[in-house]
Amino acid sequence: MQISSRSKITSLKGVGTKMQDSFKKLDISNIKDLIRFIPFKYRDTTDIMDIESFKKVEEGTFLAQIVDVKNIFTRYGKNFTKVRVADNSNRIDLIYFNQTYLSKAFKPGDWYIFDGKISAKGKTKNIYNPTYEKYVGDSSMQITLGKIFGTYHETEGITSRQIRKLLLLIKNDIPRLIKEYLPKKLLEKEKIIGIGEALTQIHFPDSKESLQLARERLSFEEMLRIGIKIERQIEERSQKTSLPITIDEKLEKQFLKSLPYILTNDQQICIKKIFEDIQQNKPMNRLLNGDVGSGKTVVAATVILQTIKSGFSGILLAPTTVLAKQHFETLTQLLKPFKIDVELCISEKKTISDANNKLIIGTHAILFQKELPDDLNLVIVDEQHRFGVEQREHLLNIGENTPHYLTMTATPIPRSLTEVVFGSTQVSTIKEMPINRLDIKTKYVPVNKRIACFKWINKKIRDSKLTEQAFLIYPLIEDNESSVKSVKTQYKNLTNSYFSELKVALLHGKIKEKNKILTDFKKKKYNILISTSVIEVGIDIPDATIMVIENAERFGLAQLHQLRGRVGRGNLQSYCFIIPSENIEDRQQALKRLKYFTTHKSGFDVAEYDLAQRGPGEVYGLIQSGIPRFKIASLGDIELLKKTRRVARKLILEDNYNLNKIIKKLFK
Ligand code: ADP
Ligand code: MG
Repeated sequence: MQISSRSKITSLKGVGTKMQDSFKKLDISNIKDLIRFIPFKYRDTTDIMDIESFKKVEEGTFLAQIVDVKNIFTRYGKNFTKVRVADNSNRIDLIYFNQTYLSKAFKPGDWYIFDGKISAKGKTKNIYNPTYEKYVGDSSMQITLGKIFGTYHETEGITSRQIRKLLLLIKNDIPRLIKEYLPKKLLEKEKIIGIGEALTQIHFPDSKESLQLARERLSFEEMLRIGIKIERQIEERSQKTSLPITIDEKLEKQFLKSLPYILTNDQQICIKKIFEDIQQNKPMNRLLNGDVGSGKTVVAATVILQTIKSGFSGILLAPTTVLAKQHFETLTQLLKPFKIDVELCISEKKTISDANNKLIIGTHAILFQKELPDDLNLVIVDEQHRFGVEQREHLLNIGENTPHYLTMTATPIPRSLTEVVFGSTQVSTIKEMPINRLDIKTKYVPVNKRIACFKWINKKIRDSKLTEQAFLIYPLIEDNESSVKSVKTQYKNLTNSYFSELKVALLHGKIKEKNKILTDFKKKKYNILISTSVIEVGIDIPDATIMVIENAERFGLAQLHQLRGRVGRGNLQSYCFIIPSENIEDRQQALKRLKYFTTHKSGFDVAEYDLAQRGPGEVYGLIQSGIPRFKIASLGDIELLKKTRRVARKLILEDNYNLNKIIKKLFK
């Protein structure tokens, strides 16, 4: 029977149930999975040298003839095989460990291609375990050496070499096994190669150029998935209608006058854009992308005011109860002169009244279960750190008309991410911080200055007559075997030493009365709060002026920036101290990241840097975040995204037959 793309991996010669289990760990169960398993790096061995040149460059690929093979058994039980090879130019010895069978495989007189490097141990130079492949007289017939070959992720029981060998068995069948599903015209127009050819070349590239073309095809395919998703969302939304909200300019002026400050330019621009949106009979769908402390709440307040004064209701969703309460206080305050009905809906106060024309503030969890007012026409979501869009769709599909919708980020999101994740959303960015804001002095504190830092903090708080407050942040709740510090131990140690004269509170995710502790801290019942990063998306404590983060390299920069944003909220000078783990000096990369952080205050810069250094998985936790996982395409390839969006748009408008075919392929 001929194999198909759905045939089990065991249908390949040499793959038994044991190997099948190993393959499972790589998410490979059938032939298609294997073909879709893409090398993560390549080695180019097309440039074949003679021994003389190899000796000079000490690394690379060379062609040589076997002269002599000897197995050597040492007294210590170490076996190795010494292979002498030569060509016209020179000769050289190769060493293989524990592969005594090679003494039979390598026959004097045979030609082989080798790939390896010369390692020096003191004076002796050796070449250990170079890869080898018999030279068949024509490099186009070689399997790996003499070619560009890929290296695959391995797992116990499967080597990259084995994967390559199995793929070789089906190499010529790949175009038959994986059928083209993009229209020919499209391939021609976008200058991309067929899927069969792309998948053949991605495993066995004939040249750098053909590998590049293969990568382009596969990237296109990955990005097309995003393009289609975005364009479909736009299309779907364009079918929806909303009730326009009337903007009362006079009211807006009054509101601005009631504020104790003047809005920044960016805030004004965002408000203008939002006002344009909500006056339409199409639902607004906008993201307010701004740094911590850039003043998104007041932007939300202006929109809420207009919505309610136009006779509708609005809701504001917060990620946590603490934040919901805080928004409730802030907005009640801001909207006080305008006599607006504000209701809070959180776990301890779950009711909402029957009244219409009001603002409801609550947590996601609670409001999802609620019967919402029929005059609801504005939904504002204050985000935590993830980008789940789907769950909220339900709020937007409650009646005949769709409410206008605004999301606010908790931290700035770099452009590369907004394009891919919020592609169907209009984005307004606040880059500018309110001018009255003092920069937070961020200092890198080497471990040997740690105690001096604590003493300084103690003095600083006492000198302020206990008005200023500090946060100390640790990665763990409890000690484990590592040297990473925990809140519990530090709380014990520090209250008994450097901070013995101050009042210190402990906070972490497992403590039930979190809100009370935070409220008490705000009321200055404590001078210092020792906490895990639970305070990250957090509350406004204007007199907290000091933030200390220990084992700082354990946190992402975006997260450090969030934490830093917990201070500097009042008009006093604030400080952020970044203390690394003890062994950090050996870890250049981590150290560099922290130093970057201490010298950059813009959250956009910090997030962009972090994303480039560690990738979206590390930075935003891919799984819950809704960020696509790319194997080949790059997240920041905005040009490619534009191209696939254009293609998707065209398919949606003109070619439903092919669109459905493609969707079936890409989204199963
Ligand atoms: P975030 O964007 O992080 O949600 P907030 O809306 O909480 O920021 O604003 C942070 C602080 O800045 C608040 O105390 C707010 O009153 C203040 N604020 C907002 N806009 C301005 C402004 N234009 N000038 C001065 N202070 C402002
Ligand atoms: Mg906020």
